Order: sequence, then C-alpha cells, then structure tokens
Amino acid sequence: MELTFNTLDLNLLDDLSISYESVNTLNNVTIQLTAMGQTGLGEVSPHTAYGETQGTTLAVLNYLKADLAAIADPFQFIDILDRLDEKLEGHAATKAAIDMALYDLVGKLLGVPLYQLLGLNPEKTTHLTYTIGIDSVDKMVQKAIAASHYKYLKVKLGSPDDKDIITAIASATPAILRVDVNGGWEARHAIRFINEVLVHHPVEFVEQPLAPGDLRGMKLLHTESALPIVLDESISDMNSILRHADVVDGVNIKLMKCGGIRNALKMIHTARALGLKVMLGCRVETSLAITAAAHLTPLVDFADLDLHLLVAHDPFVGATLDDDGKFLLPTAPGLGVQVKP
Ligand code: MG
Repeated sequence: MELTFNTLDLNLLDDLSISYESVNTLNNVTIQLTAMGQTGLGEVSPHTAYGETQGTTLAVLNYLKADLAAIADPFQFIDILDRLDEKLEGHAATKAAIDMALYDLVGKLLGVPLYQLLGLNPEKTTHLTYTIGIDSVDKMVQKAIAASHYKYLKVKLGSPDDKDIITAIASATPAILRVDVNGGWEARHAIRFINEVLVHHPVEFVEQPLAPGDLRGMKLLHTESALPIVLDESISDMNSILRHADVVDGVNIKLMKCGGIRNALKMIHTARALGLKVMLGCRVETSLAITAAAHLTPLVDFADLDLHLLVAHDPFVGATLDDDGKFLLPTAPGLGVQVKP
C-alpha cells in the first residue's frame, strides 16, 4: 500500500469557544492509502491536549510509510491496525486516519458503502446535534435562533453567564438542549446548577460537567444529579469506559480520541454491554472524517457530528442531512466521500 498525505489548513466561519479554549482554524492532515488500483481517504484532526499536532502527525506518517508499503493485502485491515497499535503507542488521531482510509479502501475494492460493510441499516441514522459555542448571551441566543431548524442543540457552558445563557436559549428556541461543560464545573456547583436551573428547561443531559480526573466528584454527582451525565474528555478507550461505568449514564466516543472505526465499534459494544447511552462526537473536521463517523450512527443514541458545518470551504462532500436534520449516508462505495470539483 502506498501512503501519501497533505496538510489541510482552513478557516472557520466563526470562532468556536468552550470552557477552556477557543479555535478559529482547522489544521488537519488528509491521507491517501492506495492499493489494488483504489485509494482510501482519511483525515487527522490532531489536538495538543492528546499529545498530537499537525507536526507530530506528519512525523508519524513519514515513520509509518515504509511499513505500510510492505503490506500488500488491505483486506487484513484488523491485523494491520493491531500491528500499528503494537508499534506505536498513542497518536490516536493519526491512527484514526489510517483506520478510516483502510475501511474506505476495502469498501471501494468490494464496491459496498461502509454502512453495508458493517452490516448497518442506513435508515437508522440519528439526528445531528448543532453546537452553540460560548459567547455573549445575546450572540449565543442569535446563533441558537439561526440554528432552530435543528431539533437538538448542544449548548456549551462553563462561563460566568451559564444561568442567563441557558434561560435565554431555552425561551428563544423549541430545540431540545444538550449541555456540554467541557469539565468547567466543580461537583457541588454542578449538583446545584443541574438540580436548580437545568431541570426547569428542556435539557436532556449534561456532558463532562467535571474535570476528567475528578472521579470522587463524579460519584457524588451521579448519585445527586437529576439529569443524566455523559462523559467525553474522561473517555478515550475501552478501559476508560470500564473505569467510569458506575458513575455515568453515557459516553462520547470520537474517532480521533480512540484511533478510528475499529476501536469505536469495540467501545460502542462495550458501552452497550454496560447499559450506557452512546454519543458519537467530533473535533474540528471536514466532511471526510465526519462522514466516517456518520456511518456508525445507526449504532448510537446521539450524533454530535456537526463541526464540519463550521469549516469555510470544506473540500469534501459526504454525509448530508434531510430536512429534519437526520443523517443521510452516501451510497457510493467506502466512505462515499468525494472531493468537491
Ligand atoms: Mg464534549
């Protein structure tokens, strides 16, 4: 297999702010894996919090080039990915791109779309959740109104205006709200805010209210919270699901955190076996990586796969939405992602 790759730097249509950071560009890497006359596509969205940057991604891809060149049969992709894990610890987003490109390649070689390769029903995709980043109360309300054709909004909290934000958005839109704090609260504050403020609004659950290390706080919150709790930053692999299974109601799985489709499938089944709700999430990604995750949505409850909508000049077209905001999967082989003409 031949591996080639390019950096992909794009602006966002708007700043995206959460409780601990603000971003306004996408600095990703796209990869191509070619074998048997077909090419699979993949995308890396590195995040420094997980030890990856565009620079480390390029270094790792250069390092793996020769190994991948020695592999002739992409159909043994599970074996290839196992060996990749043995050779290289971490670098989950880079591995996710290789994993996604292998699934794309195999789908193209077999002439079947990814959902079919995985045995999934494309009618059972979920609705997109649209993210409203932290901003002034007025701007967040404006953005929520502009997005009111989406059934579900993810409201980022963890700012001093949390109460005003949630109250104003809830009265301005009929959307069902999902709150994401990105670890910005302390346990006692979280319990009070959830039970005294959020329960009075159409809030479905609260995502990562506490810092990832605060297991004691999570235990307390799990007992006291009137709303379900979903974890994101605390969850990166199967072991992290097992460690938190008793203190949460759901987990947010991202291809870039876990190393791709193969690991995401294992984690989805692990979470289900433990009785947990499952969300698929994303980083700042184009339609390429979003589409790879969208193919898995028939298996999950919530699809927070929306940040491609924030990318100016997304070079790819893949999964789209119906009028109701529900994912429509491409029927072309593999991921079904095309480069825009
Ligand atoms: Mg989150």
